[in-house]
Amino acid sequence: MGMLPNRQIWTWFEGEWHEGNLPIMGAADHGTWLGTLVFDGARYFNGVMPDLDLHCARVNASTKALGMNECIDTVKIIQLVEEGVKKFSGDKALYIRPMCWSKLAGASTVDPDPNSTAFALCIEEESMPAFTGTTLTTTSFTRPTLSSAVVNAKAGCLYPNNARMLQEAQSKGFANAICCDALGNVAETATANIFMVKNGEVYTPVPNGTFLSGITRARVIQLMRDAGETVHEIVLKLEDFHTADEIFMTGNYSKVTPVIKFEERELPIGEKTTKARDLYFAWAGA
Ligand code: PMP
Repeated sequence: MGMLPNRQIWTWFEGEWHEGNLPIMGAADHGTWLGTLVFDGARYFNGVMPDLDLHCARVNASTKALGMNECIDTVKIIQLVEEGVKKFSGDKALYIRPMCWSKLAGASTVDPDPNSTAFALCIEEESMPAFTGTTLTTTSFTRPTLSSAVVNAKAGCLYPNNARMLQEAQSKGFANAICCDALGNVAETATANIFMVKNGEVYTPVPNGTFLSGITRARVIQLMRDAGETVHEIVLKLEDFHTADEIFMTGNYSKVTPVIKFEERELPIGEKTTKARDLYFAWAGA
């Protein structure tokens, strides 16, 4: 990705829409310095917003996972998104990001006051990447477990770990990395879920609580199964990916992304990857 510097942005905060990159947090807000912030990402493109309801519901689930109380109904978030996208011309793709954070400290400062949750909705112009493929390497960093991080939330505080995976990958000449969990099983990439194809069947790591079991991942699995494909959710090792016929990623931002190189091995944009992408776009009505 890489957000454009001059993109149009609209932000809803405290009952009003504001154009641009609105300041929303105070210097002393709990979320500012103690990292109690959750977000979710949905997309608008070609007139559709696939799985918007699930993305809006997940931001509230993430809020609770960080010990904060929900401050806005999921239905209200959906209504605000529908209102907000009308502020744009309609022909450009958008990134839709609801966010919740804690304003006040709780009894022991490091804990949030559960009733001080704030909400903002930021919508930005962001084009959909072309279906041209990306490159993956491995990484020395791993996903934390639930006992050491809030992996049951989509929380900003998890992303510096993913950022260092990306920087490590970039330093090796790759765009992204397949990361493993603490047991050495493949988890996901630094930005999306991971799939592979072998002998005509589709494989993806079984959710084990260490990685984000994505909304796009679930949608693609369902669409592929409904179309007669075999999709296995099982424990996978890096070796499996080294011998895969196809690899692709799923995530809200880019939907289905083909992987055209894993380490030194080049891969085709194969039949199943293309089918997953086509099924997703057909289902979305895009
Ligand atoms: N894993 C990570 C680390 C992500 O940031 C994302 C993007 N939200 C995903 C997986 C994919 O999740 P989803 O399909 O719900 O966007």
